Amino acid sequence: MPELPEVETTRRGIAPHIEGQRVSQVIVRQAKLRWPVSPEISQLLPGETINAVKRRAKYLLLETNKGTLIIHLGMSGSLRVVNASTEPEKHEHIDIIFSNDLCLRYKDPRRFGCFLWSNTAIENHKLIQHLGPEPLSNAFDIAYFYPKAQKKKVPIKSLIMDGHIVVGVGNIYASEALFQAGIHPKRAANNISKKRLENLVAAIKVILAKAIEQGGTTLKDFVNSEGKPGYFQQTLNVYGRGKQPCQHCQTPIKQIVIAQRSTFYCPKCQH
Ligand SMILES: [Zn+2]
Repeated sequence: MPELPEVETTRRGIAPHIEGQRVSQVIVRQAKLRWPVSPEISQLLPGETINAVKRRAKYLLLETNKGTLIIHLGMSGSLRVVNASTEPEKHEHIDIIFSNDLCLRYKDPRRFGCFLWSNTAIENHKLIQHLGPEPLSNAFDIAYFYPKAQKKKVPIKSLIMDGHIVVGVGNIYASEALFQAGIHPKRAANNISKKRLENLVAAIKVILAKAIEQGGTTLKDFVNSEGKPGYFQQTLNVYGRGKQPCQHCQTPIKQIVIAQRSTFYCPKCQH
């Protein structure tokens, strides 16, 4: 599943090719995504210029003077920039064609993504308005996070994966950040010292920033490429390493389930 770093990498990959470009045509070959593709995208987008490509949580926001196209990649969605004459492949459901003959092409085998239109201020959109702060923004700091944690008895892993608290900390990054901060994933959020939570906030930022930085090496893959950018190439300390030795202390990594999600931790390094 594309996580926040992959979505940010996608934003950086497509933005230089479509910002400032005028849409000439929209082709929807399959409108049945998680929700039906908004008809405004075919009706209002042609003739409009993409003023900016932004991101909020895992939503890509293509801003125009008439409104904003909201794209979510779902479980298996991806975007690439191709020449408009390139034949679409299987599962390539949507084309946004620009007056320079480049095409932003959306592929989504499982069709859990979305293409929605908003003509009001995006921060008031129902998918956006209740979201917590961006993890890499200054708004996500210990002064914000500590009071939130104090109010919750849930496992700390569930808290950092709650998009109302902070967006974009997916399952893999949650396990990795907790390992880096030395915190047991099941520990109750309200039973962790401020200092340790401060370390967790820092770990989340470091891990996500590193993943985005690594994504930067794949930016050229967004143009005229066949394959997907090389996601998830970073070294993982605990995720997916059940029963293997901890890289710090050699204790076998444990795998448990929290809120139906696989969770990995070192029973010696994390408490
Ligand atoms: Zn260990």
